[in-house]
Amino acid sequence: MNDKNIQNEFISTISHEIRTPLTSINGFSKTMLENWDELDVAQKKKFLKIINEQAQRLINMVENVLNVAKMEGSTGNFGTPVLKEVNLEIVVKKALELIKHNFPVHNFVVHPPKLPLISLCDADFLQQILVNLLENACKYSQPTSKIEILFSVKSNATGDFNLITVKDAGCGIKKESLGKVFDKFYRVDDALTSPTQGSGLGLYIAQTLAKKMGGKIEAESNIENGNCKETRFTAYLPVFEIEKHIKGHKSSGGGYV
Ligand code: ADP
Repeated sequence: MNDKNIQNEFISTISHEIRTPLTSINGFSKTMLENWDELDVAQKKKFLKIINEQAQRLINMVENVLNVAKMEGSTGNFGTPVLKEVNLEIVVKKALELIKHNFPVHNFVVHPPKLPLISLCDADFLQQILVNLLENACKYSQPTSKIEILFSVKSNATGDFNLITVKDAGCGIKKESLGKVFDKFYRVDDALTSPTQGSGLGLYIAQTLAKKMGGKIEAESNIENGNCKETRFTAYLPVFEIEKHIKGHKSSGGGYV
């Protein structure tokens, strides 16, 4: 796709996604203004709740778009990562605090690692990745269902990694869509996921940020007879190795952040 097509797709996706919440904010606030004296307290509360939820959706969308703009520039918060030694469990706790505010009824279960897992990464990047993965786990599962966060370690040909997995038992992702969910603007188009609103940018942002830190995100989903057993998104984050770091410090003559 060339730049012009990407730009056009971007504008049409965003304007479509923005129109829906704006229309309901406009409609419900107008109804309240025109019928204030006839509405009882319960109705007023219900309408205000819808207005508030839709405003929150708009804020999330604008944040996603801004994050893409920041990521694709070389400067700004999401340009070049500032790599430091980061305790993964601490960032998970911070991300959960943010998420619980918007998804108060979901049942979050954290399985803490046996030993502290330390990666060389940018804590702000990691927090954004976790918020996006946790938000999806909530959006695409039932409000009371369990969302688990697991930690593990793995070595492969490219290095040693600490892993954070976000696991949900929601609607799942079909095999043919799994490879595409990290594409910019991609949204699964089926009866289960389409009612949930989104911009198709969350996973693209998460994957781009993970790659900028020398890691990646993998997706797995297990659907049997149309029923989802579990969906897992796993972030791979390079292990912080003190020896390598000291060597790099000496050879570059640079300072450790
Ligand atoms: P969106 O804003 O649409 O949620 P994302 O980039 O975060 O954008 O996700 C892309 C698509 O991947 C979603 O539209 C949804 O269809 C699918 N998806 C992401 N996470 C999950 C999940 N945990 N369970 C089921 N489907 C998911």
